[in-house]
Amino acid sequence: MPGAARGNKRQVISTARLSAPFRAVLDFALPPRCPACGVIVTDPMSLCGDCWDKLDFLDPDSGCATCGAPFEDPQPEESLCAPCMAEPPRHDGVRAVVVYGDVAQTIAIKLKHGRRVGLARLIAGLARRLVPADEDWLLAPVPLHRWRIWSRGFNQSALIATALARSTGHTVALDLLHRKRATPMMKGLGRAARKRVLAGAIMPGPRWPRAAVAGRAVLLIDDVHTSGATANACAGVLKRAGARRVVMLCWARVPLDPHAG
Ligand SMILES: [Zn+2]
Ligand SMILES: [Zn+2]
Repeated sequence: MPGAARGNKRQVISTARLSAPFRAVLDFALPPRCPACGVIVTDPMSLCGDCWDKLDFLDPDSGCATCGAPFEDPQPEESLCAPCMAEPPRHDGVRAVVVYGDVAQTIAIKLKHGRRVGLARLIAGLARRLVPADEDWLLAPVPLHRWRIWSRGFNQSALIATALARSTGHTVALDLLHRKRATPMMKGLGRAARKRVLAGAIMPGPRWPRAAVAGRAVLLIDDVHTSGATANACAGVLKRAGARRVVMLCWARVPLDPHAG
């Protein structure tokens, strides 16, 4: 698969093109470090063995038949999680690379607060196997409000979407969605409260006419998937704009809280 070869090469592009003596000098002065814990590793932008072992990779074909949420105990095929049974989501599935644990969280935080483009490439490299091969996807990051972009300088999901577009050849549409008002941190809020907070906060991006979205398959990109409220809000907007299919692809997903409201 030519795309795969290109993607792998891009992951090590920062130093792979350097001449061997220069690379040796650089590695001596600035040895590559594990992006999660900082120990010295042999390959740039690769995790150390310990951190790798701590990642809990998800199987996209298991879990809730609708949203992919992993079940605590094995369930028969086509089982739905409680939230999907209570209210079918507007999106067409959620795919996550790993369960949100310590190492996954460290990587997400370093990407969000450190503008570590290399981390976006690492995440994209691990996420590309989850991109369903049956569509010509429009890759769209979950939008941040412009205040948050101003204070942080970038949207971490846009970094992942851009890296994923480069390695897969799918089209990236960074401003397909627009967050017209800032929403408070949703940590601690239940499902219904998150829905209320997000109501009307996300809109189609002004530069994307309806015709550009109508009939398209959109892969929404996010760093961390929590309750599904954001995925639902984005999917609702895109479906109303005519999108045929909306799947969420994220780095890590927080396990279902059976007690969440
Ligand atoms: Zn490590
Ligand atoms: Zn579900």
